[in-house]
Amino acid sequence: MKRCYPFGYRCERGEVVPDEAESKIVQWMFKDYEMGSSLLALADSLNARGIVFKEKMSPWSKSRVQHILTDERYIGGKGFPPIVEPELFGKISRIRESKYVEVKLASGEIRFLQKHVVCGECGSRYVRKIDKKGARYWVCEAHCDSNTISENYLLSTIKDILTDVASDRTLLESAHQSTGFQNTAEIVRMEKEWSAVNGRCGFEAGKTLLLQLASKKFSACREDKSIYTETVYQAIVKALKTGEMGEPLFREVIRKVRTGKDGSISIEFANGAIVARRR
Ligand SMILES: [Zn+2]
Repeated sequence: MKRCYPFGYRCERGEVVPDEAESKIVQWMFKDYEMGSSLLALADSLNARGIVFKEKMSPWSKSRVQHILTDERYIGGKGFPPIVEPELFGKISRIRESKYVEVKLASGEIRFLQKHVVCGECGSRYVRKIDKKGARYWVCEAHCDSNTISENYLLSTIKDILTDVASDRTLLESAHQSTGFQNTAEIVRMEKEWSAVNGRCGFEAGKTLLLQLASKKFSACREDKSIYTETVYQAIVKALKTGEMGEPLFREVIRKVRTGKDGSISIEFANGAIVARRR
């Protein structure tokens, strides 16, 4: 039979009425979701019980379950006889919204960390894995003998370090990266070339080489990032006050997160300071 009504209803003598068996399933779905079930768990359970959504249609999926949990016809919308209590329907939509916000917030942070967490042992990226039980953990992409760390530990330690910094600004002033000029093989070669040419040919001929050398030397100068210390500190303090220690803050102040063999985690901040915390 072709379904022309939402799951839970049927047509009887030209009128839409609740289908006894299906409406019970709909009520069960709302109750189960209220009890903490997920869209996926509901879909799996419906498929496992052999409940057919519609003949010759694909089995239950997350989106099909979500459709039902958001369809206002179940509380009497569009003239349909209600089969779900409006209070329960309202509660479900609040639960859905809060789950959505949670996922959205977490995924921004996670996306940032997927690009910025590196192995302190070998320098490879750390990658996120999810085990069969749904536990999330991070490992070195190169499978070196560095630690596997739980996502909770990673996130809470990063937040602990940010809290440490907010309460002790001097942490941001220590352990700066070396700054200043760093010689390179290319510069050494060009300097030799320049001294060979200098004074023995006209200015025009030597000019190009001299300008190239100056430009190379300029880009070899590491920027002194300590001027950013105050900006980094203020951003952390502000985020801590407003409780917004998420992706925007990470993006603003964190350059790298490194794992250590002893289970420590360190953050390299935008001003070049490195602050660690041990397990
Ligand atoms: Zn590694």
